Amino acid sequence: MWCVLPKVRYSKVRLLHPLCQFDVCRHEVRYGCQREDSCSFAHSVIELKCWVLQQDTGITQEEMVQESKRHWHRLEQSAQKQKLDLGASGIAGEVF
Ligand SMILES: [Zn+2]
Repeated sequence: MWCVLPKVRYSKVRLLHPLCQFDVCRHEVRYGCQREDSCSFAHSVIELKCWVLQQDTGITQEEMVQESKRHWHRLEQSAQKQKLDLGASGIAGEVF
């Protein structure tokens, strides 16, 4: 559910500001928006989603990045734990 921040130009996610329009910019979709960063419309669906998320939860972009890092860390940890559990039961099976 967390947006990754890709390095491609048009998927850049700007910070949510009070003038943000919760819609994707029509110019950007068609031929690229001249206003770039000063445009109040989202320039990608990802950007729009990030804004909606920030609006709904009050989460900052920094927190989003931290949260997604924690999320991946948890996934890694649970994957390692499963391996350990399997290993332990394997040994127990041999001993008893
Ligand atoms: Zn625009």
